Amino acid sequence: MKQKGIMVVVSGFSGVGKGTIMKELMEKYDNYAFSVSATTRSPRNGEVDGREYFFITDEKFDEMVQEDRFIEYARYVKHSYGTPKSYVEEKMAEGKDVILEIETQGALNVKRKYPDTLLVYVIPPSAKELKRRLTERGTENVEVIEARLKRAVEEADEIGSYDYVLVNDTVPEAVERLHSLIQSQHLLTVKNREEIARMKEELIALSGK
Ligand code: 5GP
Repeated sequence: MKQKGIMVVVSGFSGVGKGTIMKELMEKYDNYAFSVSATTRSPRNGEVDGREYFFITDEKFDEMVQEDRFIEYARYVKHSYGTPKSYVEEKMAEGKDVILEIETQGALNVKRKYPDTLLVYVIPPSAKELKRRLTERGTENVEVIEARLKRAVEEADEIGSYDYVLVNDTVPEAVERLHSLIQSQHLLTVKNREEIARMKEELIALSGK
């Protein structure tokens, strides 16, 4: 019997390299589905509507909130971001492990609503390295980088609410650790209740009781 997929939330400081880890994880393994969020911010160079995000207007975002079409949503440095419900539910039912790359408020809301969710926080090898990665990305101006570093200071207090931390030292190593971590969740007894019940029935039949 195919198990239902696991919902995994991956958060991390802006610029830590979550996007790259996600991309490599998806390319390497086919049991994952990436939840594409809706956002009111503008696309960065190279971002494609429907791939990185659904880029929508404030009006459309509010409409989706009213219609209860998000699993969660939050504001992050002047813009709104939300996780559309339908895709996540559909993929989990198909047995795919669904990854949500979202910030901390959203992550904690998801955990409250769906306690089985695995929360993973990606951290850089050092703060200096984080600043270097944010600056090298070259997609944001100095003020935005500073706003994101400030937000990182606030987010640091939330890491303790996550289940695991993942240090992004090198991408291939981080990808492997994340993959093993997610797959080990499928072995939890709570994810195998039907399997355990079936085994018990078979044992009863075999033992003649
Ligand atoms: P960025 O603008 O750098 O793509 O994303 C900014 C932050 O918003 C990141 O921390 C990202 O993980 C988060 N984010 C992206 N999509 C969602 C979402 O659907 N919900 C929430 N709560 N946060 C999101």
